Order: sequence, then C-alpha cells, then structure tokens
Amino acid sequence: MKDFSEFFLMNTEDVKRYAAEVLHFFPSAEGLISEEIGDGNINYVFRVRSVSDGRSLVIKQADSRIRTSGNPLDISRNRIEAALLKLEGELAPGYVPAVYRYDETMAATSMEDISAFKNLRKELMAGRVYRHLAENLSSFVAYTLLPTTDLVLDAAEKKKLVSFYTNPQLCRISEDLVLTEPYYDYKGRNILTPGNEDFVKKELYENRPLHAEVGILREAFMNHAQALLHGDLHTGSVFANETGIRVLDPEFGFYGPMGYDIGNLIANLFFALAYRVFAAADAQGGAADDTAAKLCDTIEAFCDLTSVKLRRKYDGIVTFPFYRESGFKDRYLAGVRSDSCGYAGTEIIRRTVGDSKVAELYTVSDPTVRITMERALIRLGIRLIMERNEIRCGSDVVQMFRDCANVSLL
Ligand code: ADP
Ligand code: MG
Repeated sequence: MKDFSEFFLMNTEDVKRYAAEVLHFFPSAEGLISEEIGDGNINYVFRVRSVSDGRSLVIKQADSRIRTSGNPLDISRNRIEAALLKLEGELAPGYVPAVYRYDETMAATSMEDISAFKNLRKELMAGRVYRHLAENLSSFVAYTLLPTTDLVLDAAEKKKLVSFYTNPQLCRISEDLVLTEPYYDYKGRNILTPGNEDFVKKELYENRPLHAEVGILREAFMNHAQALLHGDLHTGSVFANETGIRVLDPEFGFYGPMGYDIGNLIANLFFALAYRVFAAADAQGGAADDTAAKLCDTIEAFCDLTSVKLRRKYDGIVTFPFYRESGFKDRYLAGVRSDSCGYAGTEIIRRTVGDSKVAELYTVSDPTVRITMERALIRLGIRLIMERNEIRCGSDVVQMFRDCANVSLL
C-alpha cells in the first residue's frame, strides 16, 4: 500500500487513510466515508467524514496536469493556495476555511469543511440574495488587500512576499483568457453565440480605442505589484448562507492591482443581475419579483462599502507621512476605484465571449434572450473599461447596467 511519502493521485479510499495516518484527524480509517466533491475543472477535492461523530474535513489535491484538459500546470499553485488561505485567515478571520495542513509531497491542502455554505453563484441564480453580502464581501476585500501593500508592509518583507507569490503559469492564463483573447482571438478559443459574431467583431475585435484601454489594464495586471490578490474572486469562489460567507480557491493568487479582485466580484454580481433581468424573469413569464432590485442594491452597496472600508482601513494602518497626505490618499483610492471598474469590464467581456462561460449564460437556452443578454453585457463591459475614471460610486455602475440593458423596470 502506498504510504504518502511520494506523490500519487489519491482516490476516495486513499484519502481516508491519508486523513487518519498522515493528518491524524481521525483515529483510524475505519468508519470513514469519503466522496469527491470537486466541481472545478482543475483540481481534485474530497470530503472525508466520520460516520460515528460526523466530524469532517476537506482535502484538495493538485496534479501537474489540469484535471479536465490534461494540459500541464505548475503544481506549486497548491503551495500558493495554502499559504494564501492561511494569510487571508489572519487578515480576515472567519472568511476562509481554516487550513489544517499543507503537504508539499502530496500537493495536498487539508482544510475545514465549509459545506454549510453554498456556492454563491448558484445561490444568486436561485434568487437567494443574502442581505449581508455587500457587507461581508466588502470587508473581505478591504481586510485582505490593503494590509499587503507597500503602504503598510516593510519594503523587504513585501518583496519577499512578491517573490513567494510569483505565479507565472496561472497569471499567464488570465493574461491570455481575460486580457487578450476576448479582443484578439489569436488562439481561436473564443466561443461566440451564433448571431453575435458581427457584434463582437465590431465592438471588440475592431475597437482600437478599447484595445488601448485594455492594454493599459493588461500591463498593470502584469506589473503593478500593488497588493496580494486572491486572483480568481468570482462568485463561484465565494460560499454563502444566512450567517455569512467563506472564500475558497485562491490558487491564482499573486501580487497585482487590487482592483482586479474587486472588479471580479462586481462583474460576477452583474451576471447574477443580468440572469435575473433577462433569463429568470423570462422563464417565469415575466413574473415580477424583487430579486433584481436586491441585486442592484447589493452591487451598489458593495462598491460603496468597499470604498468606505478601504479608506477606514487606510486611516487605521497607513503611517508613512507622505501616504497620509490626502493628496496621495485620494489619488491612490481613486486609482483603485477606476481599476475595479476596468477589471469588472474585462471580466464581464471574457466570461461572455471567452471559453470560460458562466452558468448565468450557458444555461440560457432561448437564442434570442441569450443574444440580447450578451450584447447588454458586452456594452456594459466596454463602458466600464472606457469610462472607468469617471465612475464615482456604486449608483453610477448600476445606472450603467440599466442603460446598457435598456430596462426601466429596475
Ligand atoms: P478547483 O481549484 O478545482 O476549482 P475549488 O477549490 O474551487 O477547486 O473546489 C471545488 C469545489 O469543491 C468547490 O466548488 C466546493 O464545492 C468544494 N470545496 C472546496 N473546498 C471546500 C471546503 N473547504 N469545504 C467544502 N467544500 C469545498
Ligand atoms: Mg480553482
């Protein structure tokens, strides 16, 4: 029997022994049940539970290949993920699962089972817009991002972190799939909805002023080592229930512009809203409900609370006198706001025309609805990018959605 001293890909039986013999989380592998619960396409995730007392944990294992495509991918992403979960747990206690052990040999992270929380993307699609969302999401970003910047950390310490969290292969995925291919399909990987080809060609592929702005965001993504990011902060990385949220899966973590994380959340909240306005309402025969209004409020409040909390955090932890000058602080925070809108735009566009579609789009079967919805989202993405310096507050971005969706019902 393999003894876990050398890497191999575990199955549901192996993880039981691993949980008992390596982690000592259970006295023995007897009486344990395990299942693979991973719904992601990159790694292997198992839950192991004791039948007798119900105690459980989750083990996430990486391989040197991507689970679905078989393409090679740096296995040290797992080291980055485990370290980042621990750090986020210190900066934002209670917002991420506790890490029990990172095992470099097995490329496995063992952590708290947060199954009491549900995938936020699915919750929002089902119309469950928790009232605490804006509050908790804004706290998570404000607490985890600002403390990792040069405004707060010792310069040498920060550079050590930049080096530790250098994540070239996973960054390359974002550089290509988020910040290049939606506008310049040089690998032929975009997936366009039939009927939208001409729209995409004109609005994205041939839009040179847009290319210049995306170029600025792309270059900043690659060079502006501002804060330690989660790197993949969409609503499928957030789990939620009535009591709060938990954030998972920071394997794309690296030092980049903090607006990238904030913008990813804004973008994915907009997918929930677009789904409700275009698709869910349609499926229900246009039945009026207040979910869309709740989502608008959540997006607006998330933007505004993030600004308020970043400023409050700033005042609390930034001490260097130049940075305490309001002339610096206001410009810095305005830059974060503008970046957040810009990267919200690039995320909306890439999820609409790229190959990593979101469920809010691919579950829409009526082609007319899908085409209308995609065009509205692409228009919104473009405006968020092009007008990112003029946006002042959450109501501005929600108004942009209303304009692009051409809906007055909200
Ligand atoms: P991948 O990197 O392959 O995308 P994720 O970290 O997103 O993997 O995990 C895949 C799925 O496994 C999640 O969507 C969630 O359903 C489940 N999962 C992951 N970590 C936990 C955890 N700590 N507790 C409960 N479920 C988890
Ligand atoms: Mg992942």
